[in-house]
Amino acid sequence: MNGRKGVRRKGAARRGGGSVAVYPGSFDPVTNGHLDIITRGLAVFDAVIIAILVNPQKHPLFTVEERVALIREAYKGEARVRVDTFSGLLVDYAERVGASVIVRGLRAVSDFEYEFQMALMNRRLDPNIETVFMAPADGYSYVSSRLVKEVFQLGGDVSALVPKLVERRLREKYGKAAR
Ligand code: ADP
Repeated sequence: MNGRKGVRRKGAARRGGGSVAVYPGSFDPVTNGHLDIITRGLAVFDAVIIAILVNPQKHPLFTVEERVALIREAYKGEARVRVDTFSGLLVDYAERVGASVIVRGLRAVSDFEYEFQMALMNRRLDPNIETVFMAPADGYSYVSSRLVKEVFQLGGDVSALVPKLVERRLREKYGKAAR
């Protein structure tokens, strides 16, 4: 028998805490598609930690601090949501915060290949952490942070796709550069 088969539960499950899920991503900026996944996560898990990846190789529109603040604002008063940042291996971060689940959103088949690869790699790195995929409501399956930024920059209406505060911040960012 290969030792990996008997999955030893560590983290929150081992300690007898509630089920904690980590929802990692760039969130540059958070969209209603992300919020839809977080809401679904809260229906299944006791707590959801939104973990923003700090990646010096990427050039985000919003700083990490701005992204944290935008998500915190959306979940003001919701004790079961935590917003945090991380760098390095996601599975190490998950173990550190006592999470036994990684949540990822699947919009379309095009997301699948990359997400599947990541899930299997993460399982190889840490068999105690399970990846759970969640599908958003129909209306959000085409929404991405990248597309929201592009459409907004070109003058398109994104009001149904992002929280009000995100729309305001987009206007401030692009307003300064474009006008
Ligand atoms: P990443 O750079 O890790 O893809 P994103 O912020 O773009 O970061 O996405 C984080 C997670 O949220 C990913 O699992 C992504 O598939 C999911 N996601 C993003 N937009 C949506 C959406 N509209 N509906 C469902 N899931 C989404």
